[in-house]
Amino acid sequence: MNNRIYLSSPHMSDEGYEMEYIKNAFDSNWIAPLGENVNKFEEEMATFVRSKAGAALSSGTAAIHLALRAVGVEEGDIVFCSTLTFSATANPIIYQNAVPVFIDSDDKTWNMCPKALEKAFRKYPSVKAVIVVHLYGLSADMDKIVELCKRYNVALIEDAAESLGTLYKGKHTGTFGDYGIFSFNGNKIITTSGGGMLVSDKEERIEKVRFWATQSKDPARHYEHSELGFNYRMSNVVAGIGRGQLKVLEERVKKKRYIYKFYKRELGNLEGVEMMPMNSWDHPNYWLSCLSLKGKVRPFDIIEALEQENIESRPIWKPMHMQPFFEKYDYIGTDISETLFNNGICLPSDTKMEDEDLSRIVKIIKKLW
Ligand SMILES: *Cc1c(COP(=O)(O)O)cnc(C)c1O
Repeated sequence: MNNRIYLSSPHMSDEGYEMEYIKNAFDSNWIAPLGENVNKFEEEMATFVRSKAGAALSSGTAAIHLALRAVGVEEGDIVFCSTLTFSATANPIIYQNAVPVFIDSDDKTWNMCPKALEKAFRKYPSVKAVIVVHLYGLSADMDKIVELCKRYNVALIEDAAESLGTLYKGKHTGTFGDYGIFSFNGNKIITTSGGGMLVSDKEERIEKVRFWATQSKDPARHYEHSELGFNYRMSNVVAGIGRGQLKVLEERVKKKRYIYKFYKRELGNLEGVEMMPMNSWDHPNYWLSCLSLKGKVRPFDIIEALEQENIESRPIWKPMHMQPFFEKYDYIGTDISETLFNNGICLPSDTKMEDEDLSRIVKIIKKLW
């Protein structure tokens, strides 16, 4: 059997940058908590995405949770959320005992539809925050979404967990709203084994997030707490991996783009195949190469055929409003996200793949036509 090909697996630098930073942490015994790698990783990430400050946290999910707290989302508040996403986007709304309202995608971006968002604003003018997702490294239509949030004076949080390195009109996703979050989970474009980052230009709010993330310890000699605390901080060892990975991010984007172009060239003209949408403003990180199938070959035909050759592929995320846990909440839209779910597939996008792996994959797929 061939070695398994993954959708997207951890890819450490050939140069061993990550190990150097980990070694520094060991040598200085700053294993935990915090330390130089955490501070530097926050600075380096903020510099990279051109944001004023960042808080390194234990996960992207934790970053969304604290972003909701930072904008003041409380029990009973309404939060608009892209429906086509991973559940980690929506779960923190429930952690806050707030109420999600799911917003449909549009065909043009696969991300939050500005028209559906506008409709939602008219229905729920008292909404507290909007969480917009940049799926698979494609950016949402930010001009329209930012304009709507400004018009209704509502806080905007960007879930850029999948889109680190993606630019919209030259500006990094995650830096358009009040807060942006990134994830360094094992399958993301760069990974720390697990971790997340909250970025914002509101430096004093980021300071507050760091305080909440370390159990809200008030400045006192004894343990004093005047606010609810969380144990959400990133460790200094993990941050070392992140610093090393950040050095190869551009290289990873380049390879991901190469993979996408390969699939587009080989599969883009097959009957019924539509590659994921590219817009003139887009400079994606191509985290996963996805396509939508309108013909007789169905996503599971491809997934099955690849699985038999020990190759991983996946359907597109199942929309939140279709999930048993979330279906009781309101949903604004038509059936765009449902159609994308029914027709969409994520192809193997692992940056360790060689040309021969890619050739093998497209050969297996083409046989189905
Ligand atoms: C991975 C992911 C997250 C969660 O990040 P974790 O670091 O795994 O908590 C959130 N949103 C989206 C869209 C993701 O893909």
